Amino acid sequence: MSDTFSAGSGRYPADAPASEALFDRAKAIVPGGVNSPVRAFRAVGGTPRFMVRGEGPWLFDADGRRYVDLVCSWGPLILGHAHPAVVEALREAAALGTSFGTPTPGEVDLAAEIVARTPVEQVRLVNSGTEATMSAIRLARGFTGRAKIIKFSGCYHGHSDALLAAAGSGVATFGLPDSPGVTGAAAGDTIVLPYNDLRAVEEAFAAEGPHIAAVITEAAAGNMGVIAPRDDFNQQLARIAHAHGALLIVDEVMTGFRVSRAGWHGLDPSDADLWTYGKVMGGGLPAAAFGGRAEIMAKLAPAGPVYQAGTLSGNPLACAAGLATLRLADDALYRRLDETAATVGKLATEALAAAGVPHRLSYAGNMFSIFFTDADVADYDSARTQQVPAFKAFFHAMLAAGVYLPPSAFESWFVSAAIDDAALEQIAAALPTAANAAAAAGHGG
Ligand SMILES: *Cc1c(COP(=O)(O)O)cnc(C)c1O
Repeated sequence: MSDTFSAGSGRYPADAPASEALFDRAKAIVPGGVNSPVRAFRAVGGTPRFMVRGEGPWLFDADGRRYVDLVCSWGPLILGHAHPAVVEALREAAALGTSFGTPTPGEVDLAAEIVARTPVEQVRLVNSGTEATMSAIRLARGFTGRAKIIKFSGCYHGHSDALLAAAGSGVATFGLPDSPGVTGAAAGDTIVLPYNDLRAVEEAFAAEGPHIAAVITEAAAGNMGVIAPRDDFNQQLARIAHAHGALLIVDEVMTGFRVSRAGWHGLDPSDADLWTYGKVMGGGLPAAAFGGRAEIMAKLAPAGPVYQAGTLSGNPLACAAGLATLRLADDALYRRLDETAATVGKLATEALAAAGVPHRLSYAGNMFSIFFTDADVADYDSARTQQVPAFKAFFHAMLAAGVYLPPSAFESWFVSAAIDDAALEQIAAALPTAANAAAAAGHGG
C-alpha cells in the first residue's frame, strides 16, 4: 500500500480506479451507490472515496491513499479512528455476545454517564438520531396532548416524516424542498420558521399557541453549515414555549459530548424539557438517546402510555464503544478539540484571505464551517448565498492533497483529538493551492 503523493507533485491523481470500480458495483445494487445521500459526492461531483481503514487522524481509501479526516464519521469520532481503548472495549464486549434482547449492565452504565453529564433526569437509548428526535416528538405530543411542532428551516433532525420539512444536511445539500413520500398529513402539523428569529416564534405561538406541542431546535445549527444560536435564542425558546404550555426539545445529536462534557448545554444552558443525543455517545457504533425531566419521561412505555421500542436498543457493543469514548472525554480532551478546531479554522481562513476568496468562518464550540460568501450568515437563507462552485473547487483540491473535508458546503467540519502535527502540516500544505482553486472558480462564476 502506497500513501505517498504521485511523482513529487504533492497531489494524488484525479482518478481513483479502485473507488471507481467499487462505486460502479455499488450503483448497480444500491440506490445512488450509497446508504446515506451526502456520501455520494453529488454536491461536489466526482467519485466518492471508498474507505477501507482509519487510524488516529487518518483515513485510507481503496486506492491506498491517506487523508487527514475532517469529517470523523460526521462527528462521532472525537478520539480519532480505531482508538485502542475503544477497540479493546469492543473486543471484550463482542467476546461476551453481541445482543441479548434483555436488559444489560452496560446500558445502565451508559445511561448513568449521560445523566451525570447533562440536565436529563431519565434517558431512553435508541439506535439513531432519527429515532431519538422522532421519539422525543411523539413523547412531547403525548405529554401535552397537542399536535403541532415548530422546527427551523435548515435544521436537520433526521429523516422522520414530521421533521423532513425544510431540513438541513442532505436536504440542504441537494436543495430539496421536501421529500416525496411525506404525506401532507405527516408534514401538516410541522410549522417551519427561520432560524435565530424569535419574533417569528412569538408570532407562531400567538396564532397557534394552544395547538403547539413543542419547539425543536438544533442546540447549535450544524446541518446548514455551522450557525450558532444568537441573542440567547435557546433560552428564549424555552421561555416562549413554556408561556404557552409547550415543550422545548434541544437536539444535541451533533453537539452532544462533542463541544463540551455536557454538549452545547455546557456552553449555553437552557431550560429545555427534552434533549436528544447521538453520534459521539456511540463511539462510532449506532447508539442515540433522548431524555429529560422524569415527569415527562414517565409517560414512555412501559412506565406510561407513549409507545417506543427497539430490538437492538442499548446494544452491548454500541454501549461499550460509547462508554469507552465518553470515559476519555474529559475537560483536557475538550480543550484539545477546541485548540485544534481554532488552528485548522485559522489556517483555512488565512489561506482563503490570501487568495482573495470571500468567506465567513463560523464556529459553534469546536464545530465550524466556512461559508463561501461575504454575507453575515444567521439562518438558512443567508447560508444559501454561498458560492458553491468555489467550495467544490476547494474541496477537490484539498482531497487531491490528502485532506478529507465534508463533501458539501452545507456541513460542519469535525476535528478529532488524534489530529497531530503531521496531520496539521498536511492540512497547511494543502490549503494555498485549494484557496487558489476556489478563487479561480469564484471568478469564473
Ligand atoms: C445527525 C443528526 C441527526 C440524525 O441522526 P442519525 O443518527 O443520522 O439518524 C439528528 N439531529 C442532528 C442535529 C444531527 O446532526
